[in-house]
Amino acid sequence: MTRRGGAAASGSLPVAAMTVPAPLRLHIDRSALVANWRALSALSGRAACGAAVKADGYGLGARAVVAALADAGCSDFFVATWAEAAAIADLGVPISVLHGVRAEDMPMATRHPAARPVLSTPAQVARWRGGNGGACDVMVDTGMNRLGIGIEDVASGLLDGLAIETLMSHLACADEDRAMNARQRDALAGLAGKTGARRLSLANSAGIALGHHYAFDLTRPGLSLYGGVQVAALEGVIRQVVTPHAQVLQRRTVPAGATVGYSATWTAPRDTAVAILNLGYADGYFRGFSDRGAARISDLRLPVIGRVSMDLLAIDVTAAPAIGEGDWVAIDFALPDASAASGMSQYELLTGMGARYDRQWI
Ligand SMILES: *Cc1c(COP(=O)(O)O)cnc(C)c1O
Repeated sequence: MTRRGGAAASGSLPVAAMTVPAPLRLHIDRSALVANWRALSALSGRAACGAAVKADGYGLGARAVVAALADAGCSDFFVATWAEAAAIADLGVPISVLHGVRAEDMPMATRHPAARPVLSTPAQVARWRGGNGGACDVMVDTGMNRLGIGIEDVASGLLDGLAIETLMSHLACADEDRAMNARQRDALAGLAGKTGARRLSLANSAGIALGHHYAFDLTRPGLSLYGGVQVAALEGVIRQVVTPHAQVLQRRTVPAGATVGYSATWTAPRDTAVAILNLGYADGYFRGFSDRGAARISDLRLPVIGRVSMDLLAIDVTAAPAIGEGDWVAIDFALPDASAASGMSQYELLTGMGARYDRQWI
């Protein structure tokens, strides 16, 4: 008996070992990423400029992001967890682990060649001391009430004798013009010289735009490296890095009066050429883009019509008679515009992009 497609008979790879190109690509512009880091570095003045690469480099792929930015001269990288630190351990770059160190992290934390925890509770400080952990960073809370030890803990000597590389805090509303920004800055500035810390650090992407007096010794941009713009000062400075491209699975003509998609929310006002794309909310192209997003072929805008499905969506291609099955279109994904269109934050758009894209660095 022979089995249909049997690997032994054909000598081909077993299916589990085969790969096929995805019908969905993420174009990632390395030169834009590097240019964004250089721009943020310049805005940081004399402070060093690091890079937040948590959540797998905000969805782009942490390893490739770290490699590109380390090449450009970046030497401070921030991840959330020790699993994320392990994934880039072989790249040999200095890493700070923002969530600190739990008991179960200690075996890795004390062996990782280049990562140190950002200690954020008295228990973490005690754990690190008890394990002879060596160099560390410390997060101090200056009003956000998220992670961090209290300013009064510093005053009472909690950190005495620790080998602190960076003493940092985090701004709660850096992207808004609020008095709280200056209060947090002043609170961190007040800790200068009160610990053995070699450096102070406060500003994320939007914090860098607040000016040099927020930069201290080290800045920690994330979002704007990847094309996010939340404040006017970064408009025209930050370039788009990420552009999804989706393949057309079917082209059809929808007659006047017929509907498209779930809940039949879109009705054709006239006979309409429609292309179905291999892209949906499971790829982070959220339902907020229904009737609001767009694809593009060069300068031609092709609007999303009807509701975005889990894996599919429809665009009006009446203006593009040549577009058909197997062709590729770009998706409008400039983060400030995509955020306004979809109602999702720029952070959610990046980190939601999902695993089904072929990530292509160009
Ligand atoms: C995520 C994060 C950053 C980067 O913030 P962006 O707003 O993405 O620039 C900086 N510092 C800390 C502590 C963070 O958690």
